[in-house]
Amino acid sequence: MSFARPRLALGLSPRLLTALRSTALRPSVVAYRNISSTRCSHAEPLERPGRLEGPSSIKSPPLGAGSLTAADEPGKDIDPYKDGASAIDKAVHLFFFTEIIRGMWIVLENFFREPYTIMYPYEKGPLSPRFRGEHALRRYPNGEERCIACKLCEAICPAQAITIESEARVDGSRRTTKYDIDMTKCIYCGFCQEACPVDAIVETQNQEFSTETREELLYNKAKLLANGDRAEAEIAANLHADHVYR
Ligand code: SF4
Ligand code: SF4
Repeated sequence: MSFARPRLALGLSPRLLTALRSTALRPSVVAYRNISSTRCSHAEPLERPGRLEGPSSIKSPPLGAGSLTAADEPGKDIDPYKDGASAIDKAVHLFFFTEIIRGMWIVLENFFREPYTIMYPYEKGPLSPRFRGEHALRRYPNGEERCIACKLCEAICPAQAITIESEARVDGSRRTTKYDIDMTKCIYCGFCQEACPVDAIVETQNQEFSTETREELLYNKAKLLANGDRAEAEIAANLHADHVYR
């Protein structure tokens, strides 16, 4: 094989080509020596068969002994169709198109059945009293805020979506000065309303509060109180329906 053409094409010097050729040949020479100096063992049996066979006390049971039954007899075929329809049954169904008739009957049944679909948003399906939707802060009937700024909801929120700041009033009671919920973080787990000792923070049944901007989903105290004022009757009814389970 001539190296003249590659040498001209690549512009390599004769010394470099010689070094490359000797380097390329060296592994094959080494491999040949390794093979020729190693004892051939691929066709020999294992000298210590016990190492791979395990304890000599564990042996396969002889054929026909122990729990083997007639059904386990080697070579015995199992007929998977023995309990199925007979050939005559199959022929009758095939020639009289019974599958098509049964299929058309199901179509006819569903043609006269009330549809499962509804025309949302003009029609709405039922919601559980426990449905967890948009958040709201509630008031007492006299208009006083329920929240006592205990911050249990803030502590339990796994998404850390709630931020509360509070101060004491002149009468000694404590109320929030800031109650923010980042609705983009909220995972609607309901932990906040479960932790609240006075049912102040609740999740309403409103699920239609999508917005065009992220900022609109950063709820403050005024927004949450407004939600509570708007849905108070529904919230109270749902809490009453669910109180036996709480
Ligand atoms: S529903 Fe869960 S994630 Fe959302 S504010 Fe309440 S505790 Fe946090
Ligand atoms: S909403 Fe309830 S749990 Fe959260 S700070 Fe107010 S009283 Fe405490």
